[in-house]
Order: sequence, then C-alpha cells, then structure tokens
Amino acid sequence: MKVMAEYIWIDGYQPTAGLRSKTKILDKKITSVAELPTWGFDGSSTLQADGTDSDCMLKPVWICKDPIRGGDNILVMNEVCNPDGSPHSSNTRSHLADLDKKFKSEEAWFGIEQEYTLMDGTQPLGWPDEGYPERPQGPYYCSVGSENVAGRDMVEDHMHLCLEAGLEISGINAEVMLGQWEYQVGPLGPLEVSDQLWIARWLLERIGEDYGVRVDLHPKPIKGDWNGSGAHINYSTKPMREPGGLSVINEACEKLGQNIEKHIEAYGADNEQRLTGKHETCSIKEFRYGVSDRGASIRIPMDTHNDGCGYLEDRRPASNMDPYKACAALIDTTCS
Ligand code: ADP
Ligand code: MN
Ligand code: MN
Ligand code: MN
Repeated sequence: MKVMAEYIWIDGYQPTAGLRSKTKILDKKITSVAELPTWGFDGSSTLQADGTDSDCMLKPVWICKDPIRGGDNILVMNEVCNPDGSPHSSNTRSHLADLDKKFKSEEAWFGIEQEYTLMDGTQPLGWPDEGYPERPQGPYYCSVGSENVAGRDMVEDHMHLCLEAGLEISGINAEVMLGQWEYQVGPLGPLEVSDQLWIARWLLERIGEDYGVRVDLHPKPIKGDWNGSGAHINYSTKPMREPGGLSVINEACEKLGQNIEKHIEAYGADNEQRLTGKHETCSIKEFRYGVSDRGASIRIPMDTHNDGCGYLEDRRPASNMDPYKACAALIDTTCS
C-alpha cells in the first residue's frame, strides 16, 4: 500500500514568503504527525541556503487529509530546520511555539479573516480586459447575481476542500471589490490557526491551477478607490472571554497602543498602501480602538461590549501577513 504525503513549507523570500511543496511516497497509512519522517530540500532554490551547503530539513508539524488526492493521502505542514535540527532563520513558527508554551494558561484563541483577490492575468476576475468595471464599489460585498459576482465556483470548491481536509474554516463571503473574497479560519489556538491558514492558502493556490486563476494576496492589488485586502485577527484569551473580560480587553488595547511599530512590522508588507484611513481602515500613522468602529485599528465587537466579555478584532494585519508572526506579536504584547 502506498500513500502520497504532500510536504508543504514556507520559503525564504522577503518581505513576503511563498509556499512550496513536494510529494513523498510512503509505504503505510499515517495517523499522526509523529509517524512521519523528516525530509530535505534544496534550500539554494528557495533563498534558504547557499549552493555550496544547500540542504535544509523539513520537520513535519501538522497533518490533515489531502482533499484533492483523496483516500489515505495527506497534506503535511512543515517547519524548515537547519541540518542539525535547529530552527532555520526563516522559520517563524518555532518562536510562536515557544510563546504558545510559555502562555499556555492564557488559552489564546484566534479567528483570522483571510481576504484575497482572484486574478485573470493583470486584472481581477470579472473585470474588463482593461480599465475598471462599469459600476464602482457598492453592490459587490456579500452579493449574489452574475453582474455582481466573479469566481464563485472556485471559492465554493475551496470551501469544500477545506472542510474535507478537516480545517476549521468558519465561513466565506464575497468582498467589497469585484473578484475579491474572504474566508475565515478559527477560532483556534495560535499554532493550529496558523498551520491551518497556511494549508488553506496552499489549497486555494492549488485549485487556482485547475481554474487558471491566480490568487493575489497583495494588500492593495488595485490602486485608487478600491478596497485593499486584509487579514483581520479576532483575538481573545481566557480572561477576556470570562465575566469582566472587557477590562482585560481594554488593557490589551492600551498595550497594543504602546507597541504600534512592532505590530505593523509583523502584519505584512506594503500595508501602508492599504492602511490609508479610507476603505474601512485606520491610517497606519494612527492608533485607535473603539466599539463597533470599522475605521479603528482595533474594533471591539458590539456583542463583546454588550456582554462585557468576548474578543477584540485587530483590523491592521494585511492579507499577505505571516500568521506565525502576527499571532506571536499579539500574544507577546498582551500576555506579558
Ligand atoms: P467580521 O464581522 O469582522 O467580518 P467574521 O465573521 O468574518 O467577522 O470573522 C470573525 C471571526 O472571529 C471568525 O473566524 C470567528 O470564528 C472568530 N471568533 C469568534 N469568537 C472569537 C473569540 N472569542 N476569539 C477569537 N476569535 C473569535
Ligand atoms: Mn469578515
Ligand atoms: Mn472582510
Ligand atoms: Mn473583520
């Protein structure tokens, strides 16, 4: 009996890393990540090593069903390590794993809203070959109807694949710009949400191949009066979710306000093009938090305010952020 294991990892490209993967044929069915062997790859082809000393190690950290190949085949998320097994400099997950262990008792939960744009060549899907759609933004968000929606087949396929894989995808919606969409993953712990978000990103890119559609995670794919793409992070700790949690949430917001640069650094590249103060964002030069305020850096949802406990929404992260870095920044700032 043979099983195909797709080993997935994050490359060394800067400032925005990409996904890589290759297939390993195994002789038996795998039921836990501990059964998987480490593997290697040519780091000189991914900006992770020199040609003269090119081997990098793949250390399996999370597995799920491969919903594309089906059967007993699996997808394997990996950390990249040096030949001696220590974390590679591009490995942002290992730092998050340390923080997760240190602050385990906080029981941090994350729900990430991944926005993205489907592209047909240089134009978003559904746009004319040149120029702009006949109608400006307005009708497209959460819309229905062929004049309002582009790419739904692929988006639905992606949702089904995520569910079949066993990912904790919590919803999808059409976004404000035609051809722009969102899915949400979570709420889950920091490592789980991040591993699953990377796998969900991989699945979207993978079926984009079948559809001949490119997935663009740039935070401002179209300049001008068109919404950018973010990755809002909904975040809570156990004390925030319990009675009286609102005061813990307010304290966390105050701490976040003391660490603006650290967070912007962890929230993705080219984000200044998106955080302009327009299009449901707060300017990158400001920091504000508020109840139900979608023009703030941090929104405290209405339910959380009314219940006196719940979670906060950091609206600053860009669509191209690395969830390992973003979750680490949130835990580090608010739990220390
Ligand atoms: P929005 O109204 O901003 O579009 P969404 O419904 O797209 O919000 O996303 C909200 C996300 O927050 C979901 O992924 C949901 O699972 C997550 N979430 C809900 N409760 C919590 C919580 N207590 N802590 C962290 N995340 C949460
Ligand atoms: Mn949303
Ligand atoms: Mn959205
Ligand atoms: Mn949101």
